[in-house]
This record gives sequence, C-alpha cells and structure tokens, in this order.
Amino acid sequence: MGYSERDHGYGTSPDPIGSPTVEDLDTTGSDAPVECPNCKATRLFSVTVTIERPSLLRVPDGSEAVTHYIGCAACPWASPAVCVARPIGGK
Ligand SMILES: [Zn+2]
Repeated sequence: MGYSERDHGYGTSPDPIGSPTVEDLDTTGSDAPVECPNCKATRLFSVTVTIERPSLLRVPDGSEAVTHYIGCAACPWASPAVCVARPIGGK
C-alpha cells in the first residue's frame, strides 16, 4: 500500500458523518508565522466533523465521536486528526 497524504501513512482514517464545521484557524498566542507545511499558504482552517465511532475510542451514551484537524485553503494538505468524544450537540 502506498503512502496516502490523507491518512498520513496509517492506512486508516475516520468515516465522517454529516457536514464538517469549518472555522478560520485561531492563531492567537502563536509567536511563529502559521503557514501550510506543504504549500506555505497562510490561511488555514480548523475543521470539526462527526465521525463513525472508532473502535479505539470509548464513546459514552449521550455522546458522539468527533474529529478535529487543520486543513489548508489552497492545497489538499490536512493535519493528522484528533478524535474525541463529546456530548451530542456540544462543543
Ligand atoms: Zn497548502
């Protein structure tokens, strides 16, 4: 299997459910310039999307699995995703 830009070589990635929430990346407090590591674009987004329950994440009743990652406005680069459980409809 070849290296995939999307799964960072892990061979798996979460299955999204529904539409992602996309916000400008909050760079408040960052001392260094924030840019895409692939194309050097300076506009990055914070993406949150509900996902199918990953087998390694405990999701209590009344909660849902979501994943967060950073994406680039100008190229297909995306950061590795962080999967967490949160109350349904929560932040
Ligand atoms: Zn980029």
